Amino acid sequence: MMLFESVPLHRQLMQRMRYWFTLMTLLPVAVVGAMLPHSEPVPGGVVLLPLDADSPTPPRVEYQGRRVMVLKDGSQWVAVIGIGLNASPGQHSVRILRAKRNDTYTFTVQDKSYKTQHITIKDKRKVAPTQKDLERIYRERKLIRAALGAWEDKDTVPLPLTLPVDGRLSSPFGLRRFFNKQPRKPHSGLDIAAPKGTPVLSAQSGRVEATGDYFFNGKTVFVNHGQGLVSMYCHLDEITVQPGQQVAEGQRIGTVGMTGRVTGPHLHWGVSLNRNMVDPSLFLPAPSPPTQ
Ligand code: ZN
Repeated sequence: MMLFESVPLHRQLMQRMRYWFTLMTLLPVAVVGAMLPHSEPVPGGVVLLPLDADSPTPPRVEYQGRRVMVLKDGSQWVAVIGIGLNASPGQHSVRILRAKRNDTYTFTVQDKSYKTQHITIKDKRKVAPTQKDLERIYRERKLIRAALGAWEDKDTVPLPLTLPVDGRLSSPFGLRRFFNKQPRKPHSGLDIAAPKGTPVLSAQSGRVEATGDYFFNGKTVFVNHGQGLVSMYCHLDEITVQPGQQVAEGQRIGTVGMTGRVTGPHLHWGVSLNRNMVDPSLFLPAPSPPTQ
């Protein structure tokens, strides 16, 4: 087992160059907050909420009864809140818990209409699972939720994220999906098509929260980056890390495959923030890749 397989140098250099180039082009307008994700206050998006400016310690912030990420941006604390794809547009609120007083802040979630996608799956069981399959699906759903909802205290969170696979963006985040004409949950990640066996690299440093082989998601790795940010890599052919293992940014964690419910080899890349699946492209340094 190779615990610290290095990323080819040319790829590291390309990533760095892309990152610095993007940073330079953004510099005049975004000197502050270069490490924060892009703000998109919509279902499946991220809300950035500036809070206490001069407090030496971060306030504790809760949304939907769950703790959310708070990062320091210059002298400003900023709550980084993941909004669920099923969130209703309109007013939402967070609770700010301080030593001396608690507050409620409200913010607005705007509407966003995601495109519709129809997919034909040949394996009918993956669309209409049997009773036994359903039992497995419910059992796995709990494990997946627990992994995605993991919290780890960290003063800083390693950001931005980098694309885990060199490949073609085959399916953007948020698509309203129909499998064999039946409506299913919207697409809660980003698909990158690449040949089977292509290395899948951790989008940032973190700890492997869990690994598994699930009915829909196939072979999957979860990486915990801290403060409620967990990235998930699905449909892998091979998993090359163990739960509990620390991984570096760009470290190989597996290979592209077609395990689970798929139509071809690709990586389904998911990003969970405060247990809500959000658009991974908001965490990339470059502007969102163009959608089809
Ligand atoms: Zn997908």
